[in-house]
Amino acid sequence: MSDLRELYQEVILDHTKRPRNFGPLEEATGRANGANPLCGDVIAVYLEVVGDTVKNIRFAGAGCAISTASASLMTETLKGKTIEEAQVIFDCFHDTVTSSPDTEVDLAGLGKLAVLAGVREFPMRVKCASLAWHTMRAALDGENDTVTTE
Ligand code: ZN
Repeated sequence: MSDLRELYQEVILDHTKRPRNFGPLEEATGRANGANPLCGDVIAVYLEVVGDTVKNIRFAGAGCAISTASASLMTETLKGKTIEEAQVIFDCFHDTVTSSPDTEVDLAGLGKLAVLAGVREFPMRVKCASLAWHTMRAALDGENDTVTTE
């Protein structure tokens, strides 16, 4: 298990140092801002939806390691998915990070996102990890306003 933890930390660090899909998206069909005042994380998520597919997704902003890694992994995961698939992944991710540390989780079903499952042991970090996801959902719903974790 400790080897796995180290691997997870490496992946998180890699995404923090070199966030994927970082920067605004000119062609965005939806966008939303998110803030986690507790930690000071701020994020903007840009989506380009064509038909029912997330053709492109990018993010910008500044936050802690966990919020940046989560946003980066989210964009990698959701790019090319249908809106329905994105919602299923959102629910799966959200259920995992908000679950009690004693519950079994389907890490295989989470794919790369499994590296973030450990945040459920740190309640303060759950908001950091889920910020990008709530913001993504607001962008998908076209709410176009600011999401806050508070
Ligand atoms: Zn944070």
